[in-house]
Amino acid sequence: MERKRILTGDRPTGKLHLGHYVGSLVNRVRLQDQYECFFLIADLHMLTTRPSREDIERIMDNARDMVLDYLAVGIDPAKSTIYLQSAVHEVYELNLIFEMLVTVPRLSRLPSLKEMARAADLTEMPFGLLGYPVLQAADILMPRAHLVPVGKDNEAHVEITREIARRFNRMYGDVFPIPEAMIGDVPTLVGIDGKAKMSKSLNNAIFLSDDAATVRKKVFRMYTDPNRIRADIPGRVEGNPVFIYHDIFNPNKAEVEDLKERYRQGRVGDVEVKEKLAIALNNFLDPIRERRAEIAAQAGLVEEVIYEGTLRAREEAKETLMLAKKAMGLTGVWNRISRRAERARKRREKSATAS
Ligand code: ATP
Ligand code: MG
Repeated sequence: MERKRILTGDRPTGKLHLGHYVGSLVNRVRLQDQYECFFLIADLHMLTTRPSREDIERIMDNARDMVLDYLAVGIDPAKSTIYLQSAVHEVYELNLIFEMLVTVPRLSRLPSLKEMARAADLTEMPFGLLGYPVLQAADILMPRAHLVPVGKDNEAHVEITREIARRFNRMYGDVFPIPEAMIGDVPTLVGIDGKAKMSKSLNNAIFLSDDAATVRKKVFRMYTDPNRIRADIPGRVEGNPVFIYHDIFNPNKAEVEDLKERYRQGRVGDVEVKEKLAIALNNFLDPIRERRAEIAAQAGLVEEVIYEGTLRAREEAKETLMLAKKAMGLTGVWNRISRRAERARKRREKSATAS
């Protein structure tokens, strides 16, 4: 049997951070042997909140950075297809078809879209931003994917894709699998400021490409228990970003338990806790940074990966769009019109030569 498929991706708005890693990248790397994977550079999605020329001019560099991060964490372009969304025209067409299968109130109820509009300082909802999850449905269903590894914030969007796929299949026949979201072990990674979500736009991220000194500086700036103004005051471990990060990134569990114990009793300073976290994070990031530098040194490699991947994605997209239009009977309309037109033209030419 053919392998099942994965689709997921990221907007090319900058470098990837630890939140992207735990929310989605780690699952991509883990599953790329088991599944046929498609990873998209979602530049059309970027346009929903950032359509300016300056933003578009930055796509190139941002896409490069993103793909460097992909390859550095272990995504293998020999196994997985990495492609540029805006260069696959069939996706625009699928998007339009899917727009008919979801209602405005359904989309308007999604808190994530209002949140994105607010974050981008938009006072009114752009039509395209409201359609963000519909375009995601076009992405996910383009390779007819079964699984979508994403962070928690995208779960409700994958639900929209499922509804659209079900609706399509019910109306026109079985074309699409009903894909499932796969949320990472860490559904949402907190930012270094203690805010709910690490995010490029919130300026609270540790990037996969940050150098060791930057990581250390960011860790020392990190938000901890605000009530603990001295090292001898018992502190809270639960929900404390420093310990959340220790739990995720420090493989020395005994050290983490010891730090927690002493933190609760007021027998350890923030400096020691943070110093050990900085070391753990840098140990985790060292091989990623190394690989990133190796790949970055090979001129044109990243572009080649995106180029080949996009050609491959286009083939897939053509096939899916054809299947969808066929199921809908849309190809039939055009085919009949062109057949009749051809026949009429031939008849006319014949009678012209006969007379
Ligand atoms: P940011 O939200 O950091 O500005 P972004 O919105 O540009 O980044 P997306 O392209 O929306 O990033 O997200 C890419 C993927 O990474 C999505 O699956 C998203 O759920 C996941 N993700 C992003 N930030 C986090 C986080 N802090 N924790 C877990 N998953 C995350
Ligand atoms: Mg996001």
